[in-house]
Amino acid sequence: MKITDIKAEKVRIELTFPFRVAFAEINYSENLLIKVSTDEGIDGYGEAAPLPFVTGETIDSVVSVISLLRPGLIGMNPLDIEKIHELMDGCIYGNSSAKCAVDLAMYDICGKLMGQPVYKLLGGYSNRVQNDITIGIDTPEAMAEEARAHVLKDGFHILKIKAGIHVEEDIRAMHLIREAVGPKIRLRVDANQGYDTSDAIYALTEFKKVGIEAVEQCLPYWDFEGSAYVRSKVNGIRIMLDESIHNHLDAARACQGGCADILNIKLMKCGGLFRASQINSIAEAFGVNCMVGCMMETKLATTAGISLVASKKNITEADCDSFLFYADEQTGMSGGFTRENDVFTLLDAPGFGLNISF
Ligand code: MG
Repeated sequence: MKITDIKAEKVRIELTFPFRVAFAEINYSENLLIKVSTDEGIDGYGEAAPLPFVTGETIDSVVSVISLLRPGLIGMNPLDIEKIHELMDGCIYGNSSAKCAVDLAMYDICGKLMGQPVYKLLGGYSNRVQNDITIGIDTPEAMAEEARAHVLKDGFHILKIKAGIHVEEDIRAMHLIREAVGPKIRLRVDANQGYDTSDAIYALTEFKKVGIEAVEQCLPYWDFEGSAYVRSKVNGIRIMLDESIHNHLDAARACQGGCADILNIKLMKCGGLFRASQINSIAEAFGVNCMVGCMMETKLATTAGISLVASKKNITEADCDSFLFYADEQTGMSGGFTRENDVFTLLDAPGFGLNISF
């Protein structure tokens, strides 16, 4: 089997309201979809959702990188995924979301060739995922109101709360949110690199009092030692790393240094499902769990992320919720998975099982 052509198409996703995190406000995302054709008539689809301040890429850089990789990829066997990653990494450093687009298309082709959904290819542990929903930064009162609506109206059981601008306001928000949702709802916090070491130790000690179970990326992405220090100072609340973990090498460093209890894997940060599986294996060997997060992705990369969570026992948490904030939840595609409140169930169709046409 050989790759014969690669086509690309830009898509723009509009959010229903601006989303505020510690370092940015996001209103829309421009992503690239690719279609990889083969000489056996099977097409695979992939997606790049670049986020400049996380992956160092823009939509234009993704378009250039796909053009750069195209001549090398044509003629290769799409099942040779390790070899394809070797080619891509040999061609250009970084550019993880562009590489992710190619990687996802390979898994889609592989699944279609075998007549199996991608989650079966990856491990097949389950076909269902319970997902969280994220609350952006606002006044603590407004955040508590939003939390209540997600639980009572939308049926969510796990909330991820953005923080990291003002530590005292963050602590007040967590108290109000806990009061609003009651004791049974699971709460996690994401500080998006917004704290220093002393803020982090103080905030986590306070968060623990209202039953926050984990805090994501307290410190700047480069501060692995600081994360290990904070982890050694606060017990009973799990430390998660996101922006620190781009690839399997970062995962090895974080696990070896005792820097985290959970790693947040994102397909766009690591270059797709192949590297994501490596990160999970490294973490598992150190007794560290994983979560799968997302960028502003269409249903294509979201289905890939959910397939990854479902397929692996060690990936215990899912934060694949960005599509819930779009004007069109389906992003113009049908298939992939179905959603009943916070439970997502993957379809048993081959590949990612999505109907996309371009
Ligand atoms: Mg995060």
